[in-house]
Amino acid sequence: MRIVLLGAPGAGKGTLANHLKTKCGVLHLSTGDMLREEMKSDSSLGKEVKKYVESGALVPDEVVIKLIENKLKGADVAKGFLLDGFPRTAKQAQNLDEILEGMGQPIQYSFFMEVSLPVILQRLTGRRVCRQCGAVYHIKNMPSKVEGKCDVCDGELYQRPDDNEATIRTRMDVYTKSTTPVIEYYDQQGKLKKVNAEQETEKLFDELIGIIGQNDGKSDKD
Ligand code: AMP
Repeated sequence: MRIVLLGAPGAGKGTLANHLKTKCGVLHLSTGDMLREEMKSDSSLGKEVKKYVESGALVPDEVVIKLIENKLKGADVAKGFLLDGFPRTAKQAQNLDEILEGMGQPIQYSFFMEVSLPVILQRLTGRRVCRQCGAVYHIKNMPSKVEGKCDVCDGELYQRPDDNEATIRTRMDVYTKSTTPVIEYYDQQGKLKKVNAEQETEKLFDELIGIIGQNDGKSDKD
């Protein structure tokens, strides 16, 4: 499968992507994760992008396009890939098509994960992430066993600096302005599929697999 997950911050793209990765062995590429890794390592790129990420603005197109191009070209995409948080602008979507055309691996579907604003706010303000392994929790919906500690690696849980209410609103505005054209872009190509992202991840996963008709991509265990 070669898919794009589209949706507002808090739509659950990362959660669904992890599910797909575990069940189908598909490569998961998240530009948000890549940028946070750069920031953590304090690289020159990390320093450059920090102000954008922490204020909820978009990182310039050239930077993220280069990041994703390098990853895609250097990765094993035999089992397919799913893009989470990319593309976020029409320019990114066009450039992505050019890159994938060159690789002979065009996008098959773009899933638009629809969620209402109150659910988004509730999800994002309660989100906590492990500093060490990146596992994601929610203080009410999915708390860790020990408060502030990761169940997987015992790492410290933290709140992303862009997960406060003011920055979430900025991110929502940016999303509406820049990402709505991306939805139209895939719609015009006949690749857009709308899914209700307020349902449980497992149900959403089943819906998505049903649409792709690609149960053969699942591992034998499942
Ligand atoms: P995310 O983890 O997908 O919510 O992304 C966190 C932040 O990283 C965003 O608010 C942007 O600042 C930046 N970012 C992630 N993906 C992109 C992208 N495709 N284009 C521009 N900025 C991005």
